[in-house]
Amino acid sequence: MISPQNIRVHRDQGVLELTWSDQQVSRLPFQFVRQNCRCAVCVDEMTGRPLLDPDTIPADLGLLDISLAGNYALRVRWSDNHDSGLFTWVHLKDIGERLETALRQRRDNSDD
Ligand SMILES: [Zn+2]
Repeated sequence: MISPQNIRVHRDQGVLELTWSDQQVSRLPFQFVRQNCRCAVCVDEMTGRPLLDPDTIPADLGLLDISLAGNYALRVRWSDNHDSGLFTWVHLKDIGERLETALRQRRDNSDD
């Protein structure tokens, strides 16, 4: 199972940096991580329908506290006082790859 070897919080940049056991590095803006919260407040557990409007999450969202949940996830307390979400390694790796793909597409488009 994928797991991070190193977890760093760059509060000045608003970035959560994870170095994975496969040596990939995910640099995840706090806002992006918060927008992808899958807790019962943010996503309907029965239908998977998003309950969170991503536009309500401010770009300057802060991270107040971070802790390990077992050996499989992070629990994060955000500056909007949301702390019910658990971010599993698989989920964090997945959103890191989605962000990387989105950034690459944006770069490719701006090259034309
Ligand atoms: Zn949530």
